[in-house]
Amino acid sequence: MPVVSLADTTLTPDSPATKAALQQWFGFDALRAGQVEALEHVLGGEDTLVVMPTGAGKSLVYQLAAVLHDGEALPNGVTLVVSPLIALMKDQVDALQAKGIPAAAINSSMPAAAQREVMQQMRDGTLKLVYVAPERLRHRGFMNALRETTVALLAVDEAHCVSQWGHDFRPDYLAIGDARERMGRPQTVALTATATPVVQSDICATLGISHARQVVTGFNRPNLYFRVVSTPGDGDKRRVLNDFLEEHKDQPGLIYVGTRKYAESVTRFVRDVCKREVRAYHAGLTDGERSEVQDAFLTGGLDLVVATNAFGMGVDRADVRFVVHWAIPSTLEAYYQEAGRAGRDSDSSTCLLLYAPTDRQLREWFIDQAQPGEKSLHKLYRAVARQSVDDSNEAEIDVDALGHDHRVDLKAVGVRVGLGLLERMGALTRYDDRGPLRHYSLGGWEGADRRVVLEGVEKRRKNKHDGLGHMVAYAERETCRREKLVGYFGEAVEHQPERCCDACAVQARLREAPDEIPPFEALPMHSRIAIGLLDLVDRLRWSVGRKTLVRILTGSKAGDTEAKYGTNPYYGRLGFYRQDDVDGFYKQLLAMGYLKVGGEYMTVDLTALGTQALKHREAVPLDTDGPLPTGRGSASTNGARRSGSRTVEYDEAALTPDDAPLFEALREWRTQRATADAVPPYVVFSDAVLRAIAVSRPATDDDLLALKGIGAKKVATYGEDVLELVTAAA
Ligand code: ADP
Repeated sequence: MPVVSLADTTLTPDSPATKAALQQWFGFDALRAGQVEALEHVLGGEDTLVVMPTGAGKSLVYQLAAVLHDGEALPNGVTLVVSPLIALMKDQVDALQAKGIPAAAINSSMPAAAQREVMQQMRDGTLKLVYVAPERLRHRGFMNALRETTVALLAVDEAHCVSQWGHDFRPDYLAIGDARERMGRPQTVALTATATPVVQSDICATLGISHARQVVTGFNRPNLYFRVVSTPGDGDKRRVLNDFLEEHKDQPGLIYVGTRKYAESVTRFVRDVCKREVRAYHAGLTDGERSEVQDAFLTGGLDLVVATNAFGMGVDRADVRFVVHWAIPSTLEAYYQEAGRAGRDSDSSTCLLLYAPTDRQLREWFIDQAQPGEKSLHKLYRAVARQSVDDSNEAEIDVDALGHDHRVDLKAVGVRVGLGLLERMGALTRYDDRGPLRHYSLGGWEGADRRVVLEGVEKRRKNKHDGLGHMVAYAERETCRREKLVGYFGEAVEHQPERCCDACAVQARLREAPDEIPPFEALPMHSRIAIGLLDLVDRLRWSVGRKTLVRILTGSKAGDTEAKYGTNPYYGRLGFYRQDDVDGFYKQLLAMGYLKVGGEYMTVDLTALGTQALKHREAVPLDTDGPLPTGRGSASTNGARRSGSRTVEYDEAALTPDDAPLFEALREWRTQRATADAVPPYVVFSDAVLRAIAVSRPATDDDLLALKGIGAKKVATYGEDVLELVTAAA
C-alpha cells in the first residue's frame, strides 16, 4: 500500500500553513509548548512517542497533522487513528465533523453497509481521519481496504495499552505492531498520558518504532498543590476530610475511594456530617444512575462526587478545584491520572492524599492474591489433590471452600487466579462443570510449563510491587512531591511554583523562621501541650504507638507503663486531662500534619512539619477547648478545661431505608446483650447511638470512638459485636 514519505518537506509548527490550519480548522491562535515540540517531529516525518498528561492537547498533534496532509502543505493521505473506546471515538469524530473536517469511525456496532461506505471513502482519500478500535486491525476486509489506502500517519492513542507493564494493558493492542508492518510501516505517532520510562521504551519496541523521537512534557502542572496527610485510621481520614471540605466550601471537587463500599460510606459521611451535596459513582450503579451523576457533575449541577476509579475516562470538567484520595491507588500513574483531573483550567487547585500504612498492606495483599507465588500455588495444588475422588486422578472442588481452607493461604479471589495458573502450568486440567463444583484431572505438580508460568507470575508480581513502591515512596516522602511525580514520568522539574507541595511549604517556613526561639514558658497553654507532645515523641528512644503515648502523658498505671516510662519527664504531664482528651490532641496533631504513623508496628513519629515546629517552638493551633470536630479552630489558652475529643456527630442522623435493617439488627442485639449482662438496654447504647452506627457504618474501633456517645470502655466491651453486625450488613 502506498505510504507517504515526508523526507523532503520542510513544514514546521511555525510555518504559515501550520498556523493557518490551526486557526481555520480548530480556531486556536497558538500551539501549546508540548504540541510544538511534538509537531516538530511529526511534521518532520519522524515516528514519535508523545507522553503528555490528560488535557495537554495530545489529539491536536495528529489532528492538525491530518488536515495538513491535503496535498499542498503535505502529501495527500489518510490518518488512521487507533483508539480503545468506541464512545470516545464517537465524541472525537463528532467534534471533527462539526469543524468541517472529513472524519469517520468504523466499528462493529455499525451496519455492514455503513462500514463499507467508510472503507470506500478511505480508499478514495476523501476522509482525513479514520478512527478504529485495535480489534479492527484483525479484520481481513478492513486490512484489504487499507492496502488500497494512502496512509499518511498512523496514530496510536492511549498507547500505554500496548505495554504489559502499563497500567491498562489490552492484548488487542499487540496487533498494532503487526498490522503496522503489513501496512508498510507508515509514519507513526503513539500518544499516552501515563507511561514511565520503562513503559515508554516498551511501547516503542512493541510498535516497532524503537528509534522514535520521544516528547515527554507537561507533567509539571504548576497550578496543582500536592499534600499528603498521615491518617492511620478511618476516623483520622474523616477528620481531615471534614476539615478540608470546610476549607474548600462551595468548590467543585472529586473524592476518590478504593471500593464501592467506601464510595457509599464516604458519600454518607460527606452528606450527613460535612453537609455537602454529593453523589457516589461506582461500577455497582446502573448505567442510568452513572450517566446521571456524570452529567450532573459535568454540567455543574453537582459539585462533589465520591468515586471509584470507574469515574475517569472522559471526565472533562475544567474547574475541579481539588481531588482527594481516601487511600492510595496501586500505582503513581493511576494516582496522577486521577489527581490530575484537578485544575484543568490552570487555576490553583489541590491534590490531597490521605495515607494509611494499612492501605499499603491491603494493596500488597491484593497483588499477592492476583499473582500467587510458587509456595501458595503448591499449597493450592495439594489442597485440590486432597479432594480427589476415590484416590483417582480426578478432583471435585468448591472454590469458596478452598478459600476458607486454612492450609491454603489464598482467599477465594486468589484461589480462582491460582487454579487458572495451575491449569496453564499443566498441573490441572479442567472438565466441563456439573453444578456449582469444579472438576479437574490432576497432572502432577511438576507440570510441563511450571517454570515458564511461575517466572511470568514472579515478574508481574515484582512489577506490581515496584509500582506500589513508588506510590508509597511518594506518600512517605518529606522532600518535594512534585519532583517525585514529574520525575517518575521521565520529565525534570524546570519550574517550581511558589505554591508547590506540603514538603516545600515546610522548607519555606524553615527559611523564614525567626532566629529567636521563644522560651517554652512563654508559649500559650495550647502550644505548650502541642510542643510537649511533639517533644516526647522526639525524645523517646524507641518509637511507640498512639496508646502508649497517651498513657505516658496521662501517667497511666496500665500494664507496664509506669515501670517503663515512670522516670520520663513527660510521664503524667497531662494528668489533669482524661485519656480521651489527650488522644484528641494527638489526633489533631496528626490531622494537621505534625505527626505521622508508620512502620511495622504503626508507631508515631514527627513529620518534617512537626520537627520544625518543635525546633522553633512554633505556635501550634491545637484546640484544647473541645469539642474537636475539625482538629483546628480557635485555639484557647484555657488549656485546663476538659475537652471532649468527639469528632463526628450524627445527632440528627436520619435513617435512610438502606440503614434501617442494620439499625433493627443492632437493637435486637442490644436486647440480647442487655439481658445477658443483666443491665437495662440504654446502658448498652442509646437509640441515638445505634442510629449513628447504622448511618456511619464504622469499620474500625477508631471509627466507633469517633461517634458521640461511645468511649473507649464501650468500644472494649461491645466494639467487636457491633463491628461484626456492621460488616454483616454490608
Ligand atoms: P488530551 O488528549 O491530551 O487529554 P485533548 O486533546 O482532549 O487533550 O485536549 C484538551 C483540551 O485542550 C481540549 O478542549 C482542546 O480543545 C484544548 N486544546 C488543545 N490544544 C489547544 C491549543 N493549542 N489552544 C487552546 N486549546 C487547546
